Parts: sequence; structure tokens; C-alpha cells
Amino acid sequence: MSKRILIVEDEFNIADLLKAYLERDGFEVQWVTTGEQALDELARLAVDLIVLDIGLPGMDGFEVCRRVRARTSVPILMLTAREDEIDRVAGLESGADDYVVKPFSPRELVARVKAILRRSGGGESGGATVLRHGAIELRRDARDVTLDGTEVELTNREFDLLAALLAHPNVVLSRDRLLELVWGGEYPGGTRTVDVHIAQLRRKLGDDNPIRTVHGVGYKVAS
Ligand code: CA
Repeated sequence: MSKRILIVEDEFNIADLLKAYLERDGFEVQWVTTGEQALDELARLAVDLIVLDIGLPGMDGFEVCRRVRARTSVPILMLTAREDEIDRVAGLESGADDYVVKPFSPRELVARVKAILRRSGGGESGGATVLRHGAIELRRDARDVTLDGTEVELTNREFDLLAALLAHPNVVLSRDRLLELVWGGEYPGGTRTVDVHIAQLRRKLGDDNPIRTVHGVGYKVAS
């Protein structure tokens, strides 16, 4: 199975070029232009490596890196354009695995990507592939969920909903946010749909399920 790379870059020309080079080398590439979108993608996709630009509209690359690190150990290769960013990104504080200074050659970047993937093992992909909580284990690649080692039959929506919640431990996700993450934002039943699916999930996961209602706000998984 090909490795999936998430590119977070707001400059079309750079992203387009990188995407073409990575795809030519057999990688599957997802491209988003903001940190917020990157975090959403990570919540629903298993990603093997992130190419992360620092200068992004909204949340900058450092902040994205910090938030990604709070959840997963997926390798991060940062793109930096400015001298004053280099010290920060080169320092361990950033949490990045490597960095490349713009302008760079796409060939060099692809070589760095491969080197990082080799270092990180290449076996089990990205840190977020398996999500665990208590007796629950969710494997994104196999799309299965077990409870105390016994498989739980979930629909696709229930699976995606549980994955979104488990990927954000202790974070309250509003109904709108869950609708966006799991249903792509639009659904005839609206946010009521989320409640219905949460109820089904809870029933299937039993009395000890970790899904908490935060009244007036949404849902979270408490760790
Ligand atoms: Ca940029």
C-alpha cells in the first residue's frame, strides 16, 4: 500500500509541484492550505508523513506542529522561508523531524521524505493509525474496532465518528464540528443526526463507553 503524505501549504505553485513529484514516486498525496484543514484531515485519515509550511494563513506551522504532536507521532517535515524561522524549526522545541528551506528542489524534498520514512520504520504507518482508549482499540487501516479484543460491528458513520472523537481526547467537539468531520458538513438531518449516531455508538460500546456529553456544547472522549 502506498504511503500517504499530507501537504499543508498555501502557495499553489509549490504544493502543485510537490504533489506531482511525490505522486510520481508512488506516494498518495492529500493537499490542504490551512492548519485547521490539516487537523481535520488527520482526524479522519491515516497519514504517514506531513509536509508542513510554516507561513500559513490563520494558525501558523509551529502551532499546527504542536497540535499534531499532542495527538500523534506522525513524522513532520517543515518548510521554512525565512531566516528567523530556521533557528526555531531546527531546534527540538518545534517537534518537527526535519526541515527544508525555501526555495528547495522538489527532488531534494522527496529524498528527505523517503529518508524520514525509512528512519521512522515504514512498518506501521503514522502514529494515528491505531487509536486506543481503555478497552477500545480502533484501527483506521483495517477499519475495525474491538472492545476487550472482541470486534464491534459499526457502520461507516459510526466508525468515523468514533475515530474523530478518539483522535481528539479531552477535546469537546461540537455537533457542527462532528458533522463537518464525519459527514463533510452537510446532512439533511442536521446536528440531530450526530446525536442519533452517538446514541448508537454508546449502545454498541456498552455501559463503560468513554463518550461524554458536554451539555450545550457537544461531545468528548475523556481520557
Ligand atoms: Ca506559505
